[in-house]
Amino acid sequence: MTDKEPLSMYRKLLGYNGGDKKYPIFAPMAGALVTQALIHCCQCREAISGTMGPRRDAWCISCTDEHIETVEKEKKEEARKKENDAIAARKKAEAEALEAEEESKKNFLDDG
Ligand SMILES: [Zn+2]
Repeated sequence: MTDKEPLSMYRKLLGYNGGDKKYPIFAPMAGALVTQALIHCCQCREAISGTMGPRRDAWCISCTDEHIETVEKEKKEEARKKENDAIAARKKAEAEALEAEEESKKNFLDDG
C-alpha cells in the first residue's frame, strides 16, 4: 500500500453514518487502536461492528439501500404528481380559453 492509494480499497465497508451513503464506516486497519464497543444499526438494531462504537446514527448497508430506494420512489411519485397537476392545470386553462372564445362568438352573433 502506498500513500497515494485510498484506504477504502483495503478496508471492508461496514455501514454508513446517516441514511445516505455520504459517510461510510470502514473496518479499522490492522493494528489500529479502537474502542471495544458495538456499533448497532439505528434501524434494524443489528450489530454492524464489534469495535469503534458506540455511534448514534449508524446504518447497516441493507437498511441504507432500502432507505435510498424508498426515498427515490417517493421522489418519483412526487415528480409524477407534479406532472399530473401541470397537465390538469393546462387542460383547465385550455377549457377556459375555449369557453371564453365560445362566449365571445356568441356575443358577436348576438350583437350582429
Ligand atoms: Zn439495519
